[in-house]
Amino acid sequence: MKPYQVIVLGLGGMGSATVWQLAQRGVRVLGLEQFTSPHARGSSHGRTRVIRQAYFEHPSYVPLLRRAYELWEEAETASQRRLLTLCGGLMLGRPESEVVHGSWLSAREHSLPHEILDAREIRRRFPLFHVDDAEVGLFEAKAGVVQAEEAVQTHLDLATARGAELHFEEPALHWDTSGSGVTVTTARGTYSADQLILSPGPWAPHLLAGLNLPLRVERQVLYWFQPRGDIAAYQPGRFPIYIRESADGLQPYGFPALDGPDGGVKAAFFRLPNAQICTAETVDRGLHPADENALREALRQFLPDLDGPLIHATTCLYTCTPDLHFVMGPHPHHPRVTYAAGFSGHGFKFCSVVGEILADLATQGSTRHDLSLFSPHRFTTQPGT
Ligand SMILES: Cc1cc2nc3c(=O)[nH]c(=O)nc-3n(C[C@H](O)[C@H](O)[C@H](O)COP(=O)(O)OP(=O)(O)OC[C@H]3O[C@@H](n4cnc5c(N)ncnc54)[C@H](O)[C@@H]3O)c2cc1C
Repeated sequence: MKPYQVIVLGLGGMGSATVWQLAQRGVRVLGLEQFTSPHARGSSHGRTRVIRQAYFEHPSYVPLLRRAYELWEEAETASQRRLLTLCGGLMLGRPESEVVHGSWLSAREHSLPHEILDAREIRRRFPLFHVDDAEVGLFEAKAGVVQAEEAVQTHLDLATARGAELHFEEPALHWDTSGSGVTVTTARGTYSADQLILSPGPWAPHLLAGLNLPLRVERQVLYWFQPRGDIAAYQPGRFPIYIRESADGLQPYGFPALDGPDGGVKAAFFRLPNAQICTAETVDRGLHPADENALREALRQFLPDLDGPLIHATTCLYTCTPDLHFVMGPHPHHPRVTYAAGFSGHGFKFCSVVGEILADLATQGSTRHDLSLFSPHRFTTQPGT
């Protein structure tokens, strides 16, 4: 008998949830992570992530989100830690914008509670937002924030408590499959198991090279500004998470103040057409005034009081597919390997359910969740073939 049934390679957002799911099921699992945890070199740092259900990216995500919320709540109950702050979310823009119209389509198709606010109502309820008369907002009370590093650490702690063996500062150098199992070689040794799950985040282009996935790693920067005026006005309950699509297609987004009176208010660009393409090794982690000024200019248009002193900033990595939908499932060439990648800057809210999906695939060979949107074949199938 092999010492492990499943090896999970990469213990960031997705891998940490996966080892908890497996350990809960009584599976003998080994988790391998190249750095300590949590760390700030991948995609799961920067304190907070937006979570929402009226999903403008595609209505097919909504059933996954419903399950993701349940599993986040399970992790909160099991750990007695608070991971979610459901402070409400406001999707802002012209009625025909992707952010507003797409959210409304998902909300309507899945009967999600929401309100459509006109410009006057937005100003009345959320006076910090300076919107044009032509703008509307889709408000979703169940949207909010998930704590990023805290969530990763919580999943890892829950997994360890259930018997998972987790190795940190142990980069995997190579993985292989044979008829009877999988092996992963690190600087410290070679491990074998029945199944391998690859959740390498921005290192996917390297670890999944054999799949030729069209993945693009992008540099992103997160900022915390001290607002002009009283930061209490940005507290959850008074100020929601938001994404605003401007007429030129930029999508600045942000959070309520969750880091104390001197911690500032976090904001960034969600979609930025000129993001720098890089790798996890070559990314420029420096901070540049031009990036900061571009965000300040976008925020000044609708949140002018946020244009205060810079408190903190950090770079982070998106791993994008061409259509910005995830890519995950059984490895097409290796039946004992399951992988998840290409979360395209919107994956964190799904970590909990992705962990369930990857654990299902590795232990049962199937999952009840619909993965058709995430097939790698969409990148190779030609129209009409
Ligand atoms: C700036 C920014 C803002 C975002 N905002 C949101 C948001 O508001 N809402 C949302 O839902 N999503 C958001 N996302 C996206 C979300 O954070 C990511 O989709 C998610 O964190 C990806 O998790 P992951 O597990 O794939 O990658 P990671 O968390 O990076 O994990 C991959 C892990 O694999 C490890 N690894 C890689 N190679 C090896 C190896 N050879 N050996 C051992 N270990 C290895 C890495 O060290 C890393 O820890 C944002 C992302 C960024 C960068």
